[in-house]
Amino acid sequence: MKSIFLNPGRQKSLKRMHPWVFASAIKGMENAPESGEICNVISQGGEWLAYAAYSPKSKIRARVWSWDQSEEVDADFIARQIGKSIERRALFFDTKYKSACREFHAESDGIPGLIIDRYNSVRVIQILSAGTEHWRDAILEYLISRGDCTSIYERSNVEVRQLEGLAERSGLLWGEEFPEFVQIEESGCKFLVDIRHGHKTGFYLDQRENRAFFSRLVHENDSILDCFSYSGSFAVAGLLSGAENVLSVDSSSSALDLAAKNITLNGIADDQWECVRADAFEHLRKLRDQGRTFDIVVLDPPKFASTPSHLQRAARGYKDINILGMKLLNPGGLLYTFSCSGGLSPELFQKIVADAALDARRRASIVHFLGQPADHPVALAFPESRYLKGLVCRVE
Ligand code: SAH
Repeated sequence: MKSIFLNPGRQKSLKRMHPWVFASAIKGMENAPESGEICNVISQGGEWLAYAAYSPKSKIRARVWSWDQSEEVDADFIARQIGKSIERRALFFDTKYKSACREFHAESDGIPGLIIDRYNSVRVIQILSAGTEHWRDAILEYLISRGDCTSIYERSNVEVRQLEGLAERSGLLWGEEFPEFVQIEESGCKFLVDIRHGHKTGFYLDQRENRAFFSRLVHENDSILDCFSYSGSFAVAGLLSGAENVLSVDSSSSALDLAAKNITLNGIADDQWECVRADAFEHLRKLRDQGRTFDIVVLDPPKFASTPSHLQRAARGYKDINILGMKLLNPGGLLYTFSCSGGLSPELFQKIVADAALDARRRASIVHFLGQPADHPVALAFPESRYLKGLVCRVE
């Protein structure tokens, strides 16, 4: 097996079981490994540290697959890791979540850059690293051998693959063709998932617990603004919990078309839901100028900061949207505000929301902190996997 040798001091993070080896940490190699090839990682002092998959094009030059020298990284290893991860889900989910769940969450579940989501009997895989790409056949073979799904679809058509030198790819890998929309159930709500073309692998599974929490605090007669609505999941959850009406705002017409289907699917009356296709930054200003107000405002924007260099611009975006969101709330109303930018810390996000309250001249308190559900775990050694944070603020 080929080996990567580290610069002095760069063994520290690996010893703390952080799985990334940056290009700058590497002093040299015996022979350059192939893309995705498993190699030894050796410290400056000659100590064996880990087995990692090499990625020649990425700044994250290698990702650790095992810290145990006696463990062979092979097809059995893949099967064990995935099998254990799926079993762990059973600990957390009762049957009402069975229909949709993240079964494998990359580094935090033990294979860097592998996502597996399940929507009823359809599994969707997403491969985001060169190492995992190398083992694609073994992953597929294991999932087929489990005999517990009818289709396996790949949604590796995401831009981040470019950083690993990988082309985008999507399509049915195995099993039956499935309908254009796969129906799932979540806490009494029905949702249609567009696996082939939807965001992520089709649905924002990571907001499951947050939607459930949101439902509990909806009162009869509430009017809700669901901003960055995507397929209207918060709108459906709110209306089924007794809200009087919801306005969904999103810039994507296909998202709103799907939201409309979800509203109908849940038997919600047409006059309770309204949608506007618009840029949220502009439309919230328009609503403010019209004097519209709401009892609840949900702000669930896309990732504004994809790299640390975008952080400042992202912070401005979050602040702007939160100022507007707060101004649209009736006194005593609730703001559900989220950020899924991994590079933006929960502390900084809270500060941005606090600054927004000052600018909006509204007193606000956090009544609840929201985050990721149990099927999107955060390995303690890998804090980067904590990306989703939410604040529920009562705004006076
Ligand atoms: N709340 C949703 C997920 C939102 S994802 C859920 O739980 O399912 C973010 C959404 O923001 C996407 O649907 C995207 O189309 C929309 N979006 C991105 N930029 C936008 C903008 N400037 N104005 C309005 N919507 C935008």
